Amino acid sequence: MDVLKQSYEQLIFLQDLSIGFKAIIAIHNTKLGPALGGCRMWQYASDESAILDALRLAQGMTYKSAVSGLPYGGGKAVIISHADQGPREVLFRALGQKIHDLQGTYITGMDLGTTVTDMDWVRLETSFVTDTTGSLGAVSELTAKMTAYGVFLGIKASLKRAYGSETVKNKIIAVQGLGKVGYQLCRYLKQADATLVVTDINPKLLKKAVDDFGASPRRPHDIISAPCDVFSPCALGGILNDTTIGQLNCSIIAGAANNQLAESRHGEMIHGLGILYAPDYVINAGGIIVTSVELGGGDAVAAQKEVEKISDTLTYVFSEADAQGISTAAAADGVAEKLLGN
Ligand code: NAD
Repeated sequence: MDVLKQSYEQLIFLQDLSIGFKAIIAIHNTKLGPALGGCRMWQYASDESAILDALRLAQGMTYKSAVSGLPYGGGKAVIISHADQGPREVLFRALGQKIHDLQGTYITGMDLGTTVTDMDWVRLETSFVTDTTGSLGAVSELTAKMTAYGVFLGIKASLKRAYGSETVKNKIIAVQGLGKVGYQLCRYLKQADATLVVTDINPKLLKKAVDDFGASPRRPHDIISAPCDVFSPCALGGILNDTTIGQLNCSIIAGAANNQLAESRHGEMIHGLGILYAPDYVINAGGIIVTSVELGGGDAVAAQKEVEKISDTLTYVFSEADAQGISTAAAADGVAEKLLGN
């Protein structure tokens, strides 16, 4: 998945300096349904890097919905955080107005740096928004919990593929990032008697995981090379790159972070090392599955049932990789592209 080789349906740059508003809406593909994907608010090194982030994330959402069998396409919004930005209500209402103009082509929701309150402001301008007060996404972080649950099930499916048994007991799992998803993932893993090695750049979150789960702490830059069965990236994207891949000391990579591969060729590098990679957008689809079920009128129980299908989807991707003698990353892209009719 190299972003500039892809075709996009729409790339919208929004700017109103009178209210300190700069944002991007990227709509990658709506063949299977309206573009679904959250709104990120982040400080970027440049407007160009924000645009690239939006494009890459939007494309990831298309592939994620497609492989998960959801009736949605992929899109993403990014609000560029900067020193002169206006009040959040003004910014999110401005975004909401533009989303409304798109007449349902794009549906937004929460992502890194955005909250339920922000989505409530978007909702004042448009109904094409999820994760507002009272929604499943807003209820006790169900989206993050179900993302973690899907990753947990994906880790089991990966263990089965690599070791012949999905038993987590006594397997060493190294979790990078103990935020909303990483912490919940540790909870599922601990319940299954895994041995946890963890890190976070936030010392408070690290201490909490150590205290709550008896996990062994590592310094952030030591987690990549920690000897383990499963390395689980649950922090930021781009973690699998030219520098880090040679340091890996694991049999499996299976985590929640989006865009784990810095470039698609890194999927081939990992494959060449004999490490099993659970493609990020397959294993971390729990959150979008919850949103999709809710948009279809379902409840939390129905959402969990759908999330449980992640194991089968991942196992199918692994079997496609085997059958074609290709990397799991390439196999996942192939499955998504076939469903998209490419
Ligand atoms: P979060 O912001 O709550 O947690 C991320 C954590 O990573 C933070 O605690 C942060 O301190 C830590 N971190 C950042 N850089 C780090 C580093 N270099 N080393 C160690 N720790 C580091 O985010 P989240 O909601 O838990 O999401 C985690 C990842 O999963 C993100 O990449 C996100 O895009 C992806 N994801 C999340 C969801 C969801 O439902 N929340 C769904 C799909 C994918």
